[in-house]
Amino acid sequence: MCVFEMPEFDRHEEVLFHHDLATGLSAIIAIHSTVLGPAAGGCRMWPYASSTEAVTDVLRLSRGMSYKNAMAGLAFGGGKAVIIADPKRPKSGELFEAYGRFVNSLGGRYITAEDVGTTTADMQSVASQTRYVSGLDRRVGDVGGDPAPKTALGVYLGIKAAAKFRLGRSDLENVAIAIQGAGGVGYHLCRLLAADRARLLVADVRAAAVQRVVDEFGAKAVAADQLLRQDVEIFAPCALGAILNAQTLPHLKAKVVAGAANNQLARDSDGLTLHAAGVLYAPDYVINAGGIINVFHEYHGGATDGQVSAAIEAIPARLTEIFERSRRENRPTNVVADQLARARIEMGGRRLVA
Ligand code: NAD
Repeated sequence: MCVFEMPEFDRHEEVLFHHDLATGLSAIIAIHSTVLGPAAGGCRMWPYASSTEAVTDVLRLSRGMSYKNAMAGLAFGGGKAVIIADPKRPKSGELFEAYGRFVNSLGGRYITAEDVGTTTADMQSVASQTRYVSGLDRRVGDVGGDPAPKTALGVYLGIKAAAKFRLGRSDLENVAIAIQGAGGVGYHLCRLLAADRARLLVADVRAAAVQRVVDEFGAKAVAADQLLRQDVEIFAPCALGAILNAQTLPHLKAKVVAGAANNQLARDSDGLTLHAAGVLYAPDYVINAGGIINVFHEYHGGATDGQVSAAIEAIPARLTEIFERSRRENRPTNVVADQLARARIEMGGRRLVA
């Protein structure tokens, strides 16, 4: 495997491989861009079947962070880390300390946080070795901690913007919404949507997670492999990446796709398929930026919880701008968003040179 030749490489500034003999840590940090600021993005722990799979994932996620941070107007570049290990097995604090030393060796070019498979407690171990970490258990003032509730807030507001644009709805009462994944983000999203009396259909591979939203919010439980086929207005993927692909798209009945998962499109061309079918797709890295906005303010300190929420409340306007351009120019929303994000990064670079 030659990293430079991988299609996902896309002009990354750095890709670093690290192995720690004492703890068995195998980790990769990818820094896509530091043009707008230090590269920031979470650390994923996953039992990748091969190192090629791990590199592909970290490169895709890292570039996604560049775009996400640029579109959220944050002075952060884009990066991501992966630890090749199974998060379901007992975790060792020493392993995360070794990871913390790896992050620290970059001298602040990369700032880490939790992601799929890692927790605020894991980041606490990382923080014993480096200050280039956010998303910790402690709260600076009243900001910080688990970013999932803030991600859910941004997704909820984004769903409302998409419902207004595509369905002409100014409220969500009785609007049928299929939510894939009732984990950290999905649970809080269900809470917000239920308060608006939306009709919730929820699937999760963990029965207890589904039962919780059935009991607390009156959601209807749906089998995981049937959710996409449900007759709903909105599909909110909050579990896996690449859920919108050539196999699943023919079954999709929703008119709007708006959810938290990263890298929802298996390929960029799947965005064109959605566009051609009249399905409004809210680009993932725009709608799910609430968590990184929270991480940014925790890292820098000085903001109140209200100010963080106010920054997240800018997400729907950003989405509506993309929806309008997509309609005007008859181009898929993911293509419009990528172009806007790249332009913001290039503009930032020109400012630095000047
Ligand atoms: P999580 O791990 O807490 O929850 C994911 C849930 O999806 C779990 O309950 C899991 O059992 C379920 N799941 C897994 N496979 C499934 C399947 N096939 N069908 C249905 N459910 C399935 O993760 P999270 O923090 O809630 O994040 C959800 C998604 O949003 C991820 O893709 C993540 O990358 C993305 N995201 C999260 C944040 C955040 O702040 N946590 C921010 C941005 C993006």
